[in-house]
Amino acid sequence: MRKASLVFTTYGEPTDALKRLGEGLKEALEERGYIFEPQPHAPRLVLNFTSVEAPRPYRRRSQATFVVSLLELSEISGEPVKEMYPYLVRTLSNLLLAYVPGVGAHFFTLDLGHYVEPEGQGFYRRIAERIHPMASATLVIKNRFDTDLEPELWDGDELTAALSRAGKVLDEWNLLPAPFPIEEILPPEDLRHVRHLYGIGGLSYGNLSARKDEKRFWMSASGVDKSNLREVGRDILMVKDYDPIDNAIVLSVPPHIKPRRVSVDAIEHWMIYREHPEVRAIIHIHAWMEGIPATQFHYPCGTYELATAVAELIRKAPDPAQAVVGLKNHGITVTGRSLEDILERLEGKVLPQVPMS
Ligand SMILES: [Zn+2]
Repeated sequence: MRKASLVFTTYGEPTDALKRLGEGLKEALEERGYIFEPQPHAPRLVLNFTSVEAPRPYRRRSQATFVVSLLELSEISGEPVKEMYPYLVRTLSNLLLAYVPGVGAHFFTLDLGHYVEPEGQGFYRRIAERIHPMASATLVIKNRFDTDLEPELWDGDELTAALSRAGKVLDEWNLLPAPFPIEEILPPEDLRHVRHLYGIGGLSYGNLSARKDEKRFWMSASGVDKSNLREVGRDILMVKDYDPIDNAIVLSVPPHIKPRRVSVDAIEHWMIYREHPEVRAIIHIHAWMEGIPATQFHYPCGTYELATAVAELIRKAPDPAQAVVGLKNHGITVTGRSLEDILERLEGKVLPQVPMS
């Protein structure tokens, strides 16, 4: 995969406080090897100055552009994620930084992460350190659909039935927060833009998959209601392969169907299945478990880097086929010998709140 150089730029009109933050960050990013250009065609990173009053988006031309929107707040509310998430979406950002001068920068991520970097020594450097793994990660969200699914699987099999049952159980346990209603807060043209850029049909959290054979696995689609997984090609997709040249997930679908995209984490599941033949099922939820190993950095969903970091922890687990690993500030990925095996091990042990640090 080609790595774009780390060109970054700024956009929008900053307040005085944001201007200082922007200048500090610019310097810290340059120290890390980022190169500032005033009007690059396809920057890797954009610092988008915005405000609560007029949350304007930076319209990227490329999926590879990581947009961090910065806005100034006098204080943070009691329900920060609920309050700030709409600004993340409206500004079409990958990350929102709400800066409270004298206090610190609150980070809000697409996967509902929220954590604070307090102001003080090394402030800008610490922010740049957190942004870097996210901004430099490679998204694997391109889908290629081959209409070669064998007819006997068009209506699913015992594995798609098991996925459907497991989705219902997770919903009963309240582990599938309702998809965020982005269509309610975005005008249609922005919604199209979001779909194109992030490859999502809506925001919903968590995903599940089950191995079909040596190479292939069934996986939940992107943005669907996981408590109601039914139709092949629409709710559940057959992942056939990953194409590293095209950087695309390859799916087998029935003909005469307008397929939905597969969950953005398909690359992570693909890596785990390929490496561990004994893994038969995988569940990812935005929740936590006591005493689990976790990834060191917060990588965005659907990136090659997140997949690699998770796969590394699975490899180190005493039994990779029955592992639970944490994704920092995000959730857990659990492997099992079957979906039922995973649910049995999770029951009663899941903490609904992901620790944020
Ligand atoms: Zn997730």
